[in-house]
Amino acid sequence: MQKLIKEYILKYLGGSGVEVPLEALDDAAVVDGIVLKSDSHTVKPLFFPGGDIGRLAVAGTVNDIAVLGAKPVALSLGLVLEEGFPIQDLERIVRSIKETCEEARVHVVTGDTKVVERGSLEGCIINTSGIGVRSEELERNLQVVKRYRRLKARWILDSNLSPGDKIIVSGAIGDHGLAVLSSREGYGFGSSIRSDVAPLNLVVSRILRVGGITAMKDPTRGGLSNALNEWSEKSGVGIEIYEEKIPVHEDVKAACEMLGIDPLDVGNEGKLLIGVVPEKAEEVLEELRRTKEGKEAQIIGEATREFKEVILKTAIGGRRIIPTPIGDPVPRIC
Ligand code: MG
Repeated sequence: MQKLIKEYILKYLGGSGVEVPLEALDDAAVVDGIVLKSDSHTVKPLFFPGGDIGRLAVAGTVNDIAVLGAKPVALSLGLVLEEGFPIQDLERIVRSIKETCEEARVHVVTGDTKVVERGSLEGCIINTSGIGVRSEELERNLQVVKRYRRLKARWILDSNLSPGDKIIVSGAIGDHGLAVLSSREGYGFGSSIRSDVAPLNLVVSRILRVGGITAMKDPTRGGLSNALNEWSEKSGVGIEIYEEKIPVHEDVKAACEMLGIDPLDVGNEGKLLIGVVPEKAEEVLEELRRTKEGKEAQIIGEATREFKEVILKTAIGGRRIIPTPIGDPVPRIC
């Protein structure tokens, strides 16, 4: 996917010169002070333990805007439905979109609906786009960072990480990918694993109020492995993470072992990866743990100048390089 985007899309569409452009390949773009993001969702099945395509669509866009430090304000909704798509399923999805919007305090303000002939897609595809604006919390957060070190960027970007920054994950990883996979394939462990899909903008504004956050990402496709490698590459730092600190639910761990999948490579839809100046790491962690979504948060590692890669320190003291996942161990989960 990275190769496809770089060689066939950026080649033609980069070069806008806006503040955070397409070629930054960050979670969202910034144009004249407005954060802009677009996502298409093709999850299969449309309804899965813990969520559905509607909740996923809203949360996905809201979270990509929030992790730049912006406040999401409005969404657009593009629905592509297959001819004969059950009206009760459509209603269930739109109701879920409404509920998730209420949770995130955003509104759908424009949209488009198309019907395509039977057999051209499996049920429905949803595109959500959204805009976000600068917030007081973001300004405050940046002031706190500057008490401890230099930071030129006006937004929370993948390229902002510096050696010494602590890395926090807001909770257990792998739940979403495994929940979708198991409900799709009918594995026996399906019932115990639920997707974490949730809008995180209110959690983000709480931790920005604490301050000191330099980088933030929702580790969706490619999981923690992909997100950490993007940070490492764009910030030009190495990242060391500690295996025993990474929260993984027991049933997810067992399912991953059975399927030969690394939970680090599995997508999440309700988790934050946070880079924070070391002086504020404990406070950000405490604030996260006071929220429903961040109860299991942990400091899992730190950025370093000692090496250039993402390195996992295993529980028994070994070290291994964590590469960007090749291919997708769990396709069609978002
Ligand atoms: Mg993202």
